[in-house]
Amino acid sequence: MSHPGYSATVDFLLTGAGQLVTCDPELGEGPLGLVEHGAVAAAGGRVVYAGPQAGLPDLEPAAGAVRVDAGGRAVVPGFVDAHTHLVFAGDRAEEFAARLRGVGYEEALAAGGGINRTVRDTRAATDAELEAAAAGRLATALAHGTTTLEAKSGYGLTVTDERRSLEVLARLAGRSPVEVVPTFLGAHLIPEEFAADRDGYLDLLEHEMLPACAPLAEFVDAFCDRGALTVSESRRVLEAGARHGLRGKLHANELGATGGASLAAALGCVSADHLLFCDEPEARALAAAGTVAVLLPGTSFLLRTGRAAPVQVLRAAGVTMALGTDCNPGTCYSESMQLMVALACVHGGLTPEEAVLAATDGAARAVGRGGRAGRLAPGAACDLLVLAGRSYLDLAYHLGVNLAAVVVKGGTVAAGEGSPPGAGP
Ligand SMILES: [Zn+2]
Repeated sequence: MSHPGYSATVDFLLTGAGQLVTCDPELGEGPLGLVEHGAVAAAGGRVVYAGPQAGLPDLEPAAGAVRVDAGGRAVVPGFVDAHTHLVFAGDRAEEFAARLRGVGYEEALAAGGGINRTVRDTRAATDAELEAAAAGRLATALAHGTTTLEAKSGYGLTVTDERRSLEVLARLAGRSPVEVVPTFLGAHLIPEEFAADRDGYLDLLEHEMLPACAPLAEFVDAFCDRGALTVSESRRVLEAGARHGLRGKLHANELGATGGASLAAALGCVSADHLLFCDEPEARALAAAGTVAVLLPGTSFLLRTGRAAPVQVLRAAGVTMALGTDCNPGTCYSESMQLMVALACVHGGLTPEEAVLAATDGAARAVGRGGRAGRLAPGAACDLLVLAGRSYLDLAYHLGVNLAAVVVKGGTVAAGEGSPPGAGP
């Protein structure tokens, strides 16, 4: 008997999920769509069934189908990391140590350190060095359960070096199981050599960098904040990007109430990221524009100012929340979305349910993949994790260890138990 609405032949079948987190409230209990004793079936990399194992339709697994027995453990959608700066050379461990001694982030930036240091290191690296460094981070992200990852350029800040960063991402996308979402961030900073000619840099960005980089990117982003770009400079960059077909994202209101959140809403950006400063009118504007708030709790935690994004304001306004690692050499060097879920709860004020939703369905929306990734529902990508634990609560509760026991991307085991030797980027 074939079940109406389901493909009769599947090439992926997971059974034995003690707790299945679908992130689709229509498929189960509560906002996470929880199902007890769950199963997932997929064909061609897409979910065809997610629900109670007892309700599994009569599907015929194809010869050679992937079978996963979750053994009573929890199963969640693969993480979507909505914000990373994956492509960079060198590190800033000493600057991190200085910050622990009390030197401020903006102080380091003003002294020629900070992003400027990484720009110098990135420009000096060979293509192979840059790609190897980024590939290593991508492999770490996958091993920790990230199956879709947004990644920005932004440490090149010349036509050649910005394009080179996006080319690295394109090559990684071709060889890694992780879906890489490329963002052009030539407006990360006005580089040192243009300090006296800010408009000259923006002219270069608009007339030379964007034409060279836009074909390799999906989104355009700008760092709109104190010490970086002003609101009007950021507007110019996002509007120029839009003319090249790139949707907008914005680093907004991280270091101060600088007006970035309002700009992101006014321009209909897909996301506004950081938002450590965000008042009620700004939150309402983001909600009305459908702009997702990407919270980066690793960064706010490590900046050690005691400030986190005002979750109660965002929640009250009905803003969709997402999480990202902000993986970067300066303010948060981590590829682990598991850590971000934990920090979002213990530092950021989210409930575990909000944090898991933000790391999956919310983050998918923040990278233009709402409904297609970040949930286990018919039609979505079959990206999932078998956790080394009985509940999604372990992600907030069981700290500092890798809970991604099995990582499945597109219906194939990509990392963890049962993955082929040498799998990964
Ligand atoms: Zn960032």
